[in-house]
Amino acid sequence: MNILVTGGAGFIGSAVIRNLLANTRHSITNLDKLTYAGSLESLLDASQSKRYNFEKCDICDGEALDDILSRSRPLSVIHLAAESHVDRSISEPQDFILNNVLGTFTLLESVRRYYTDLIPADRRRFIFHFVSTDEVFGDLGATESPSTEISRFAPSSPYAASKASGDHMVRAWGRTYGLPITISNSSNNFGPYQFPEKLIPKSIINAIKGEPLTVFGVGSQIRDWIFVEDHARALIKIVTDGQVGEIYNVSCSNQKKNIEVVLEICDVLEEYAPDKPSGVTHYRDLIKFVSDRPGHDTRYELDARKITQELGWRPEQSFRSGLRKTVKWYIENRTWWENMLWRAKREKELGA
Ligand code: NAD
Repeated sequence: MNILVTGGAGFIGSAVIRNLLANTRHSITNLDKLTYAGSLESLLDASQSKRYNFEKCDICDGEALDDILSRSRPLSVIHLAAESHVDRSISEPQDFILNNVLGTFTLLESVRRYYTDLIPADRRRFIFHFVSTDEVFGDLGATESPSTEISRFAPSSPYAASKASGDHMVRAWGRTYGLPITISNSSNNFGPYQFPEKLIPKSIINAIKGEPLTVFGVGSQIRDWIFVEDHARALIKIVTDGQVGEIYNVSCSNQKKNIEVVLEICDVLEEYAPDKPSGVTHYRDLIKFVSDRPGHDTRYELDARKITQELGWRPEQSFRSGLRKTVKWYIENRTWWENMLWRAKREKELGA
């Protein structure tokens, strides 16, 4: 069958596509607008496959979506396309409302039209999966239990609020229009091909370049980390075996303070890149504490027992093993991240 992946040129979407091509016989349509965070250079191997097709498209464009759906005839849609960076959502919230709220609405409406016209046998197989985040549940106090699939929503950033709107709409389209949906809420991802604005790739790259490793506050914020390939496997598992209408948390119970993450990156770099930039004796000396971001969430933790118990999904990487793979990848793939940074800088200059 054909699977439509929105946001497939991004960090998680490209991992999903690589996994689908390597481990299934499905064909894949990657629908992506190619913002600063998306790159076809993340899919160079995939583009050689006859089972892969790319469509440059904005999910806010309903007519273009109708056309792509009618040509690609998918029986699954995995919806990842979104603006995804919390700091950007604080400085430019409008982009998040436009792409994550209006974009998801436009996609749902287009998918609903497409689904209604499917023959009954295909309708029975069809699934629309929405990829969401633990941030919709809001942050937790030090002693609070991890968020479950039925925890109340309490988003704290514009990003989290825009994703929560997506969760609500997808649930409503399932209930009101009978669209067969599933949703997953995952913790913080890390791994290869992540745009270097997020904590882990940014810290690795700054350390390699001998630039400061900035940490908000004293780095006491706790995040729950998952290696991106484990997340990709979970998404494919849900689309294949998940129950229509169900929500699944996806996490590995890797809770770490931000400062612990940065210190661990420095330690792995000491081993993998012992020849440091001039003037740097220890990578840890580059750590610089800066004033905290507004409304910074203190702690996230997900209870992911449901996906393990009901679908048999389990992570394959520990935080340590995933981090080692990630650090090694950024050391060996300098051209990829230099191109990403150069393109983002140029787009910003042209837009300004
Ligand atoms: P990303 O920023 O790396 O990639 C997003 C992709 O979506 C890019 O390729 C971009 O070009 C595309 N896109 C953005 N707006 C679009 C639009 N209007 N039309 C078409 N394409 C558009 O993000 P990511 O980290 O891969 O996250 C993917 C999804 O997973 C997002 O929905 C995000 O909210 C969710 N998620 C991410 C994490 C994480 O830790 N990264 C955790 C939980 C959930």
